[in-house]
Amino acid sequence: MIKYQLEEHYLKTAKTKVKVCSRCIYDERVPQIYFDSDGVCNYCKLIERLREQYGTNTKLGEENLRNIINTVKINGKSKKYDCIVGVSGGTEKMELKSTSCTL
Ligand SMILES: [Zn+2]
Repeated sequence: MIKYQLEEHYLKTAKTKVKVCSRCIYDERVPQIYFDSDGVCNYCKLIERLREQYGTNTKLGEENLRNIINTVKINGKSKKYDCIVGVSGGTEKMELKSTSCTL
């Protein structure tokens, strides 16, 4: 299903000659988007900076996450809920909700 949607997206953008990020599927119709000289959008660059800042997929990032989880658990001890996770219904947010319940 997702593959089909991506193919449809690329076909649609190819027909209309909409500029598409060279790394993701965002195109020039996304609000406040701009591209560097390699065609990479500012949102991909933002993710790069955040991954570096928080150590995503590194030992340091895992330690940071564990520290946050421990803090949340300590602060939520003997309360009805540990924390509130905001979700809007998107697949990745539902995955976050599901994953956070197992940590
Ligand atoms: Zn991008």
